[in-house]
Parts: sequence; structure tokens; C-alpha cells
Amino acid sequence: MVKHKNFLIVLSSPSGAGKTSISREIIKKDNRINLSISVTTRSKRKGEKNKVDYYFIKEKYFKSMIQENKLMEHANVFGNLYGTPKQEVINSFKKNKDLLFDIDWQGYQKLRESEFDVIGIFILPPSKKELVKRLNKRGRDTKQEVLERIKLAESEISHFLEYDYILINENLKESVKKILSIIESERHKRERIINLTKFIDKFRF
Ligand code: 5GP
Repeated sequence: MVKHKNFLIVLSSPSGAGKTSISREIIKKDNRINLSISVTTRSKRKGEKNKVDYYFIKEKYFKSMIQENKLMEHANVFGNLYGTPKQEVINSFKKNKDLLFDIDWQGYQKLRESEFDVIGIFILPPSKKELVKRLNKRGRDTKQEVLERIKLAESEISHFLEYDYILINENLKESVKKILSIIESERHKRERIINLTKFIDKFRF
């Protein structure tokens, strides 16, 4: 039973499958979607901006957010803490927008247990070889980090069957188009019409 008119869209993938670029394009192309900005204790990478890519915070503050029940979910990924502030959902739904998440399988599992309607999309790289190539090419991680991410990619991929939709990212433009059409179809699902009686009355002759 759907309780809210708006829903949550989770994009998960191993690092390097293109999820971040895809999510940025999606919010540019569909103004009914907001991007959820997570809090993290990891340090800012070159080119990243606070409050745009993440809220970069200290571990002490992260822990106080957990204690004050301000996070919808949180997880340890690659030794850093990541979490979704509840406020992100509240703000987005107030503006009647659906909310897109770039989070891992652990976050997806927790969100699915929430009162919200969650659509899970898993993005796979075309091949293992291509994933390794992309991770090396983006040059933002150290060699050690790249090696760790390759190791973890396998464990992230082992969760793809838990998602509603699975997509191989061969081409950014095509993948964005496919995800936008998945989201649009979801909006037209019968169970998403909150007040069905009122809706039927409108079309009774
Ligand atoms: P990165 O450090 O490369 O930005 O992200 C590392 C991983 O953490 C990615 O798989 C990303 O999807 C995940 N992640 C980012 N924010 C969150 C969050 O709020 N919760 C969870 N569970 N994972 C997150």
C-alpha cells in the first residue's frame, strides 16, 4: 500500500560503473526529482564541494546525528561513514519531488524497510575489464583505493538481484534515457494514485 505520492529511487552500483554521472544527468533532465545529499566522514576529493556532493562532517557530528535519530540509514563503506539525513526526504516531499539516492546496497536494504516507497535500480558495468579501466582512468583515487574498490566491486555486484531494475551502463546517454523512462512508468502505476475513489469519480460519466 502506497502511503506517499512521491517515492525514493535508489541507484546502486560498484564504484566506476557510472552511477554518479548518471544521477547528475537525471536531475538535470527531470525537474520532478531531487538528489539526496548524504553526510560522510570521508575527506573531500579534488573538485568536490561541501553541500553539493556531500555534507562533509566530522565523525563526532556523524555519531551525534545517529544518536539524535536524524539519519534514515547509515553504513560504513570503504572504512568511511555515510548516511542519509531524514531531512532530505522531508524537504523533497514538501516540494512534491521524488528523491534520487546514490547509495550502496546496505542503504538500499534499510530504505526498503522504511515507510517509503522505494524503487531500486542496479547499474552494472559492461564487463569486469571495463570497470577496472574506468576506475584507473578517473584518476581521483590512489592506487591502493582503486585496488580496494575492485575487491569491493565483487561484493556490491553480488546484491544486484535484490533490485527492481538492472541496467548495464554501456553508454551514459542511453542509460539516462532508460532510467528516466523507468521513473516515468513508475509514476503511472495504479497503486500510486493515492485517492482512487476521488480519481474514479472525476471520470464517471
Ligand atoms: P564515494 O566515496 O565514492 O562517493 O562513495 C562510496 C560508496 O558509498 C558508493 O557506493 C556510494 O553509493 C555510497 N554512499 C554514498 N552515500 C551513501 C549513504 O548515504 N548511505 C549509504 N549506505 N551509502 C552511501
